[in-house]
Amino acid sequence: MTTDKTVPPTTTDAGIRAPSDEHSLTVGRDGPIVLHDHYLIEQMANFNRERIPERQPHAKGSGAFGHFEVTNDVSSYTKAKMFQPGKKTDMIARFSTVAGERGSPDTWRDPRGFALKFYTEDGNFDMVGNNTPVFFIRDPMKFQHFIRSQKRRQDNGLRDHDMQWDFWTLSPESAHQVTWLMGDRGIPKSWRMMNGYSSHTYMLINAQGEKFWVKFHFKTDLGNDFFTQEEADKMAGADSDYHRRDLFNAIKEGNFPSWTLKWQIMPYEDAKTYRINPFDLTKVWPHEDYPLIEVGKMTLTRNPTDFHTEIEQAAFEPNNMVPGIGLSPDKMLLARGFSYSDAHRARLGVNYRHIPVNKPVCPVHSYSKDGAMRTENATDPVYAPNSYGGPAAQPDPGGEAGLWYADGDMVREAYTLREDDDDFSQPRALIRDVMDDAARDRLVNNIVGHLCDGVSEKVLQRAFEYWRQIDEETGNKVEQGVREKLGGASPHPGLGSAEAIRKNEAV
Ligand code: NDP
Repeated sequence: MTTDKTVPPTTTDAGIRAPSDEHSLTVGRDGPIVLHDHYLIEQMANFNRERIPERQPHAKGSGAFGHFEVTNDVSSYTKAKMFQPGKKTDMIARFSTVAGERGSPDTWRDPRGFALKFYTEDGNFDMVGNNTPVFFIRDPMKFQHFIRSQKRRQDNGLRDHDMQWDFWTLSPESAHQVTWLMGDRGIPKSWRMMNGYSSHTYMLINAQGEKFWVKFHFKTDLGNDFFTQEEADKMAGADSDYHRRDLFNAIKEGNFPSWTLKWQIMPYEDAKTYRINPFDLTKVWPHEDYPLIEVGKMTLTRNPTDFHTEIEQAAFEPNNMVPGIGLSPDKMLLARGFSYSDAHRARLGVNYRHIPVNKPVCPVHSYSKDGAMRTENATDPVYAPNSYGGPAAQPDPGGEAGLWYADGDMVREAYTLREDDDDFSQPRALIRDVMDDAARDRLVNNIVGHLCDGVSEKVLQRAFEYWRQIDEETGNKVEQGVREKLGGASPHPGLGSAEAIRKNEAV
C-alpha cells in the first residue's frame, strides 16, 4: 500500500482497485488463504499463462522500428507504391538466430534471420530474409528434417554436431550455405554489421504489366564485421544477449543502423535460358551477370517498448505481397507462403493480424470473421457476391505479380538441371575468389573445431569428401587438421553426440 498520490493505483485486469500488492486474503493473520481472493487468483493464473510457444525455428531474436526511403527511380521495374521515387514507408525489422531457443546465446554460429514488415498503403509487405543470400536446401520436403538435425537430440536433449554433419554431408546442395556458415559471416559482430538478403527470387511488375525477376540485397552501411569463433565463445558466456543489447543500446543512443537496399534485376525471359536455375535457393546470381542497382535506405530509429507484443508477437509472412511484387517458382518460397502464416495461427491464434504490430495501416475489407481473440469483425453482408454493398474484389489493374506460365505432368522430381547447375562451383568461388588467405585459414579452423566435437568416423569421412568436392585444398587441410587435433584417436565424443551415447551404452 502507498500514500504516494503521484503513482496510479494498482488495479485488477477489470480496472478495479487492487486490495494489496503484498498480502493475500487469509482467515486471521496466520490462517489459510481463501479462494475468493480474486486478485491473487488472477495474478497466479495470468503468470501461469505468460509464455507463448517460441518460434520453431528463429526463436531467439529482437528488433526495432524504422522506415524505408526510396533514393533512386526504380519505377520502370515495379508499380509497388513503396518503391516509387522519394517514398518513405514505416517498417519493423526482426533479427534472430535459427536453431537456438528463446534464451540461447546470440553469438552461436548460425545464419541470422532478417525479417522485415513494411506498412504500405496497399497492405503489409513482408520479406522474411536471412543474412545469407542462399540456403541449405532447395525443396521444402527437406526443411523439417533439416531443422531437426540442427536442433536437439531426442534422447538427451543436447545439440549434436554429428547430426548436423550427417544431414549436411548427405545433402550436397547444402555446400554453399555451409561454406558461408563456417566462414567469417557465420557469426556477425552485431546485427547492425551484417547484410540482409531476400535469398529467394521474387517477381516485380511495372505499371505497363512488364515482369522482372529480382533478388533483394540489404547492405549494411556500417560494413560487415564478424566475431572469430574464440571471441564468440567468450561472448556467449559473458553476455548471451549481446546482439539484442547492442541493437537496443545503439538505437537508444541515437546511432541509428541503416542498410542500403540494392536489387539484382533479371529480365523475365532470361530466366528460361539462364545458365543457372534462377529459382534455386542454393545459388546466387553472380554480380557480373546481374549487377546491383541502388533502390533506397532502411533505417531503424525506434526501440520496442513492449518486447512481448511488439517483437515476440510480430508475425512475418512471405505471403504478404502488395501490388507490384510477387512470388516466383522457387519451391522453398512457395512452401513458405503457407508455412509462416500457419505457424502464426498455431502460435498466436487465428486472429494474429489483430495484434497492433501485425495490423496493416490501410483499411481492411476482408470476409474473414469470428474466431478466438477477434477484436473487430466484418459487418453484414458476410458473403460475396451480395447485393447489399459489401466489398467486391477489384483485380489489380495491369496484371497481378507472381503469376507465370506453368504446364506439365505432376511429378516428384528435382528441378531440371541447367548448364552450370552444380552444388560445388559457387562455394568454391566463395573460398577461392572472395576469401583471402586469412579468411581461408579461419574457415578451415572453424570447420576443424566443429568436426572435432563429437562427429563420428563415418560422418567425418563423408565430411572430408564433401569439402574436397568444394575445394580440394580446403578438404585436405580439414582432414589434416581434424587428424592432428584428434591425435589419431577416434573422434572426441561431444557431450551430446551419438558417439558419446554409443560409448556410454558400450560400458
Ligand atoms: P563478387 O565478387 O561480385 O561478390 C562477392 C560477394 O561476397 C560480395 O557480395 C561480398 O559481400 C560477399 N562476401 C565477402 N566476404 C564474404 C564472406 N566471408 N562470406 C560470404 N560472402 C562474402 O562475386 P560473385 O557475385 O561472382 O559471387 C562469388 C561468390 O560470392 C558466390 O559464389 C557467393 O558465394 C558469394 N556471394 C555472392 C553474392 C551474389 O549475390 N552474387 C552475394 C554474397 C556473396 P559485400 O560486398 O557485402 O562485402
